[in-house]
Amino acid sequence: MGDRTETRTTEQWLTDLKTNTETGLTHAEAARRMTQNGRNQLVERRRANIFVRIFRHLKDITSLVLIFAVVLSAYLTVTSGGSWTKTLVIAAIVAINVGISLLQEGRAEKAIASLQSMTTQTVEVVRHGARQQVDAQELVPGDIMFVKAGNTLAADAQLITSTDLLVEEAILTGESEPVEKRTSANADAGQQQIFSGPSVLQGNAKAVVIATGMATEMGKIAGMLNETVRQETPLAKRLNSLGMRLSVIAVLGGMISILMATLMYGDSWADSVMIGIGLAIAAVPESLPVIVTLSLAYGVRQMAKQHAIVRQIAAVETIGNVTVIASDKTGTLTQNKMTLVRFWTPQGKMLHTNQQDAQEALQRDSEWFELWALATSAELTADAHEDVGSPTELAVLRFVQQVGPTAERVLTTYPQLDEDPFNSQKKSMATLHAYQDKYLVVVKGAFDRLQFASPRLEQTLQRGHDQMAASGLRVLAAGYQIFDAYPGKNWAEQATALEPLGLVGIQYPPRPEVPVAIRKAHQAGIRTVMITGDHVKTARAIATEIGILQANELVISGDELATMSDTELLDKIDDVRVFARTTPSDKLRIVKLWQQRGEVVAMTGDGVNDAPALKAADVGIAMGITGTDVSKNAADMILVDDNFATIIAAVRQGRTVYQNILKAVEFLVSVNFSQIFTLLLAVLIGWGAPLTAEQMLIINILADGIPGFFLSQEPAEPGIMNLPPIKRHVGIWQMGLGKRVAVRTATYVILILGVYALGRFVLSDNNIVLGMSMLFFVLAIGSAIDIFPIKSRQPMSRRTFTSNPVLTFSIFGTILALFIVGLTPIFANIFGVVLMPIASWLVILISVVIPMIVVEGYKRFQHRHELSDWVRPTDDLRELSEF
Ligand code: ADP
Ligand code: MG
Repeated sequence: MGDRTETRTTEQWLTDLKTNTETGLTHAEAARRMTQNGRNQLVERRRANIFVRIFRHLKDITSLVLIFAVVLSAYLTVTSGGSWTKTLVIAAIVAINVGISLLQEGRAEKAIASLQSMTTQTVEVVRHGARQQVDAQELVPGDIMFVKAGNTLAADAQLITSTDLLVEEAILTGESEPVEKRTSANADAGQQQIFSGPSVLQGNAKAVVIATGMATEMGKIAGMLNETVRQETPLAKRLNSLGMRLSVIAVLGGMISILMATLMYGDSWADSVMIGIGLAIAAVPESLPVIVTLSLAYGVRQMAKQHAIVRQIAAVETIGNVTVIASDKTGTLTQNKMTLVRFWTPQGKMLHTNQQDAQEALQRDSEWFELWALATSAELTADAHEDVGSPTELAVLRFVQQVGPTAERVLTTYPQLDEDPFNSQKKSMATLHAYQDKYLVVVKGAFDRLQFASPRLEQTLQRGHDQMAASGLRVLAAGYQIFDAYPGKNWAEQATALEPLGLVGIQYPPRPEVPVAIRKAHQAGIRTVMITGDHVKTARAIATEIGILQANELVISGDELATMSDTELLDKIDDVRVFARTTPSDKLRIVKLWQQRGEVVAMTGDGVNDAPALKAADVGIAMGITGTDVSKNAADMILVDDNFATIIAAVRQGRTVYQNILKAVEFLVSVNFSQIFTLLLAVLIGWGAPLTAEQMLIINILADGIPGFFLSQEPAEPGIMNLPPIKRHVGIWQMGLGKRVAVRTATYVILILGVYALGRFVLSDNNIVLGMSMLFFVLAIGSAIDIFPIKSRQPMSRRTFTSNPVLTFSIFGTILALFIVGLTPIFANIFGVVLMPIASWLVILISVVIPMIVVEGYKRFQHRHELSDWVRPTDDLRELSEF
């Protein structure tokens, strides 16, 4: 790799970079190098300049149609010598549309970009003689950094020391086989270096940073593929293809109408072409793509406020439709605060360690705990906040210290020689100590993973274990074994005849908000499933307590899983609520099987081994506090507070976004359809085009488009969490939306053609412009106020007008603007309408409310009688109406 992996030794690097392995750089020097080298980040794709971005918008199919309209209208003006007003109006509207899109898109991009800064990573370094965490972006060449399993590497570095370092460099080399890194003299240069981007699978190391930012190997690659892919969610993709299809319909319709008009009525070619353009314009929902982007960005921002950081924009959409949430127990469903509350002596006596007399008794016999203090990777410090280690270990260690021996004291008697750290696969850990001229191995872990010397003692322990586990405690056993001679490199596996040191029971209460969140999930048709490494009994007790597990539901252990075939498991999986004693590799299998059952699965995880399951899940969720970098990088979403309840908040937000997008579709697309059919019918009847191209643009982009933007911020509707998730295969037109669009379209077509006829033939003597003017105002005002019945899926109420004040104001603004157009000669002229007599206004005022009544009425009808996206037959209507 690269040209820098040449020959310099670690010493040479250290001298060249003028740094010291023990004290690192001084703060001043680090700051100086930072100004010199820049921040340690891959330089973002330079924001495309404004012309490029405008061009990007203009080359959308939508804009192409519009530009064609401008050109053609200009051409017709030149050739037939009319006024330029029409051309200018269309051009102005196109400009306004691009302007609004740029503005809104800029806002959306900013919202999403600010998320990246929230997910920054920290790195442990030595600076100014002290070990500390710094923001990964502040690393500079010469920094001495520490890395360990679970880290994603943040800079290129040369190893100084390392133990068992295993790195996965697939992201750089495409090679998924883990690479061993070491510092020994015979290691080749590439082996002595680690690179920014890959993740550490195993081991730890101290290394000197040799390159940061764009100077890293990763930076070179990033430089090569500077163009980042724009993400699109499944719904956005579907809507884009809808836009395409509508455009095709438009062009076809346009051609047909040109043919019809010229053939049947002998209209002039110029008129027919203008009608064709009008149709093309009518068909395209210009504002929809921006509304979709805005809604997603709004969702991202809201979720961030609720402590869920979205890494993949599609997750905003998918999370709303999950059907299963598979959650880790420890730290997510439960608090991370653990306390040791029971001790079961090797002789079989249960002590309640939080009671005074038990503590006194234990203090007298504090040698009980001497060896407990050994088998640990945690460390207590003077300040409890600085303690390092997992909550489980800290709970043990704090108690041990409370009743007697400190770890330091014990370690002087039994100096530690080696450690075999805890992992979730084997569920135990061990330490090796010198003991006089012998060797002492102490093992601590899940009771069923330890092998004891005496079966009789083991039975005694079993009783203690079962009692504690049944009351929801995490149980840890410990034992020791003495070897006369060095037991060999795999000493930990040799300890198969342990003398017991008793059991401890650790309490870790559920998070208080979890039972409610689980109930909410249940109401929302989502199954919550607990995944834990704890014993079946412990898991069962806690699952029952927090409401995950009901009487007839199943708990399956990792061991049972191992013996079951996929088919057997598929048979049962619907009823399983708890997977206990699992290892991280079980998670992937669980995700995949559920997906086979058609479920949409959200899965949480924090460890390196969880990454494959997080990737496979429809929504992979990593833990912000306890999660490893690797798990965060694999995830679609990060819980800042590690809290299960946050997932449910995100589901609610996701559903809201999804619904808001569908509301925008309903609101805008039915107006497009109305325009198409009205035009076609009018031409068929022989009335000519009853709407001009610029009038349709005004309706699509201004009268409906601008208020439509505010649909993206429509808050969640009450009861949104009482709906079942929308199934994977259900299209957007199902669940009632298609029918509502059809009903609304039909209403408008009939209504506005009627109004047109009234204006042209009844209120005047074949005054075409009067008919057109009336039609324009009915469609413009009428379609705008329909936003109210559409935006609330429930029957309209006061809330409909108050829940989103900006939207309400924008509608009144729109109506006011339209009145001004209708009442002032200058504007009327520009917009191609005439000043109308009072009778026309009366007709308009009465007509505009008709569609609203129909839309609202049909919605209520659907609630009662049909399958709809708001109320299904299975829903209990009374319950819903309580909201
Ligand atoms: P979870 O992922 O649910 O936290 P783990 O797989 O991490 O579960 O742990 C499962 C079991 O391993 C626990 O029930 C306990 O018996 C044991 N265990 C947990 N932490 C430690 C530790 N630090 N040392 C020894 N054993 C542990
Ligand atoms: Mg764990």
